Amino acid sequence: MSFELTDDQVAIRDMALSFARDELAPHAVEWDQTKHFPLDTLRAAGELGMGGIYVGEEHGGSALSRFDAAVIFEALSQGCPTIASYISIHNMVAGMVDSFGTAEQKAHWLPRLCRMEWRASYCLTEANAGSDAAALRTRAVRDGDHYVLNGAKQFISGAGSSDLYFVMARTGEDGPKGISAFLVPSDTPGLSFGANEHKMGWNAQPTRAVILEDARIPASALLGEEGMGFKFAMKGLDGGRINIAACSIGGAQAALDAALKYMGERKAFGQTLDRFQALQFRIADMATELEAARTFVHRAAAALDAKHPDATRLCAMAKRFATDTGFEVANNALQLFGGYGYLSDYGVEKIVRDLRVHQILEGTNEVMRLIVSRSEIARMA
Ligand SMILES: Cc1cc2nc3c(=O)[nH]c(=O)nc-3n(C[C@H](O)[C@H](O)[C@H](O)COP(=O)(O)OP(=O)(O)OC[C@H]3O[C@@H](n4cnc5c(N)ncnc54)[C@H](O)[C@@H]3O)c2cc1C
Repeated sequence: MSFELTDDQVAIRDMALSFARDELAPHAVEWDQTKHFPLDTLRAAGELGMGGIYVGEEHGGSALSRFDAAVIFEALSQGCPTIASYISIHNMVAGMVDSFGTAEQKAHWLPRLCRMEWRASYCLTEANAGSDAAALRTRAVRDGDHYVLNGAKQFISGAGSSDLYFVMARTGEDGPKGISAFLVPSDTPGLSFGANEHKMGWNAQPTRAVILEDARIPASALLGEEGMGFKFAMKGLDGGRINIAACSIGGAQAALDAALKYMGERKAFGQTLDRFQALQFRIADMATELEAARTFVHRAAAALDAKHPDATRLCAMAKRFATDTGFEVANNALQLFGGYGYLSDYGVEKIVRDLRVHQILEGTNEVMRLIVSRSEIARMA
């Protein structure tokens, strides 16, 4: 096993890094302050192949691995964690359409999703079904050649702007086996959206409720078979967790790099901050912890690529570890700026606010511990 990136992976990383440096980083603070969702920039990311990272080439995708995706999301997040994370969610949906869709569904949705001409939202959470997602109550009732959907999804990233809503709804019994997945187009009558939520971070992408009131969609919008939806949703999340973990590492790396630059310029007690050994040691710990998180995320991504039976457990472990580490490292970087870190000018407080939600979504870090502890206990049973 090699811990080096291949030449191809280095090229992909460098492409994503230069996109992050040129197209994301210069605007990230302003987009956060003005709550601007940069659709042109997303289309530009699509033109570079980042809208369908693991979608097959025959549908316009880049046919890359989960490992490659982790490398890309870490790089993108160095420019702006909010936009990188949105691209991750979009890719999660595109990947599920590619994995589980019919030939017609793939031909209809994927080419434009891959170019990010169309964008996608992932709709699982409800007001009373967050961590306990299998308790969801949105219903889909078959009516001839159609399904009629009723319910409300909470906290949906990209909602109101997306073209495709990947909606998990109940078609059968209580629990996970009664849930099905639907591809709901944005122009569906009966589909509407709540107000854009006021958030601590992730301000450059909208978060809204998705409301379904007698929303009628053709039966051909069902993904796979009835009752498969929760399985698809969880499969999508394995990869989503790797991506969000990589986004935490990228954001934290940018914060660490900014702190290092600042420490070389800022003087206190007659010398630059980087001469104080206490601060040098803190830098050493931050870099070490980030490297550990990166190595772990790559290991989990490789397990997912290999379809290893342990992949879900490793993805949950890596998500918990990398998102906690990323937040801590970014918060430590803010501390190294003193009072200036608390101002928006250096962009570090924005990174801290953005990375905080990575500990909450794609399954909270408590839910990650549930997944890991269940498998540990089962191992000894
Ligand atoms: C900005 C943002 C964007 C989001 N985007 C999306 C999206 O695009 N699509 C989508 O479907 N969802 C999205 N979410 C929703 C997100 O996935 C949920 O908020 C998350 O899963 C937690 O659910 P909850 O908020 O209902 O918290 P709850 O489930 O109510 O949890 C509250 C607290 O209790 C803890 N807890 C719950 N159960 C247990 C347990 N059994 N053991 C130990 N602790 C437990 C949780 O970890 C948490 O700390 C987003 C959320 C935010 C904030």
